[in-house]
Amino acid sequence: MIYDNIIVGGGPIGLACGIEAEKKGLSYLILEKGCLVNSLYHYPVNMTFFSTSEKLEIGNAPFVSHNHRPVRREALEYYRRVQTTWDLNIHLFEKVLNVDKSFNEEEVYKIKTSKGEYLAKTVTIATGFYDIPNLMHVPGEDLPKVKHYYDDPHLYSFTDVAVIGGANSAIDAALETYRKGANVTLIIREEEINDRVKYWVKPDIENRIKEGSIKVFFQHEVKEVTPTEIIIEDMNSKELTRLSNDFVLAMTGYQPDFDFLQRIGITLSDDHIKAPEYNTNTHESNQEGIYLAGVVCGGMKTNSWFIENSRVHAEMIYENIHLKLKK
Ligand SMILES: Cc1cc2nc3c(=O)[nH]c(=O)nc-3n(C[C@H](O)[C@H](O)[C@H](O)COP(=O)(O)OP(=O)(O)OC[C@H]3O[C@@H](n4cnc5c(N)ncnc54)[C@H](O)[C@@H]3O)c2cc1C
Repeated sequence: MIYDNIIVGGGPIGLACGIEAEKKGLSYLILEKGCLVNSLYHYPVNMTFFSTSEKLEIGNAPFVSHNHRPVRREALEYYRRVQTTWDLNIHLFEKVLNVDKSFNEEEVYKIKTSKGEYLAKTVTIATGFYDIPNLMHVPGEDLPKVKHYYDDPHLYSFTDVAVIGGANSAIDAALETYRKGANVTLIIREEEINDRVKYWVKPDIENRIKEGSIKVFFQHEVKEVTPTEIIIEDMNSKELTRLSNDFVLAMTGYQPDFDFLQRIGITLSDDHIKAPEYNTNTHESNQEGIYLAGVVCGGMKTNSWFIENSRVHAEMIYENIHLKLKK
């Protein structure tokens, strides 16, 4: 069988793409390497979205949340309901390894996965950015006490925790672990807490710092992690400080799988953003028939796209695929 379209990634935007393919009557398959909305599943267990629930809706399925802003648990429930409603053609726990052009009677893409091979006339890449953490590249980063994904605060109760970073994930982790009894120190490269920290959270962290409940080292970087300590450096004076430490929560952000994008022929900008090349009207990449959807479109600028503002990619892409395949 040759599918009209294969979607790589079963996150919110991959599902939105499946819905649009369904609406256009295209044959399609979503391939997801983990569980349904795998990235959301791996978010911190108590995480609250900054978006209100209606901004996370796809496929006209109403998202009812108990609070103004939904929590992870509600979002998982919601996207499960979307899947039940639309009965999307999806294979879970099947990783796409490569996409390449094979020339049979007609030009089609061959999609190689961890479980098999598929053929498709077009491919949509909706692989997000949550699988690869930005590393600190310091000795000791591979110790088991260094975490790039923060999950449940209980693990850190009554221990010395260093939280690295000054953006939303770091501040949420610092406040939550502090409230569960951890002794928290924030290590931030910048001079102040990031301006993009949620407006209702920023005063909370600033006041905890002011009252000394959470310690902070601004303009400091991690130099080394040992089994019992973390060594940090003042970025101006180069003075080193050693702190007693049980856990390091390195909330230093994540990046798309650039190797995968390059392997399938997507051109990336040669600056530090590594923005993938695509037509902003159709989201078709420099590879004809390969489309980019969702947060993967931002390259290293992972805050430019989110569910709220990238849901529309699906309509743009499937309008174009429909036109192309009708010819
Ligand atoms: C902590 C946090 C809070 C956020 N809060 C909000 C918010 O409040 N509002 C908002 O709009 N956005 C928010 N975002 C951003 C948004 O949730 C994510 O960017 C969203 O998940 C993007 O959807 P996506 O479908 O583009 O990517 P993802 O949800 O990351 O989906 C990509 C999927 O592709 C799969 N995949 C990757 N590679 C392969 C492969 N080779 N083969 C098969 N499958 C693959 C992954 O397993 C994943 O399921 C938040 C992000 C984070 C990290």
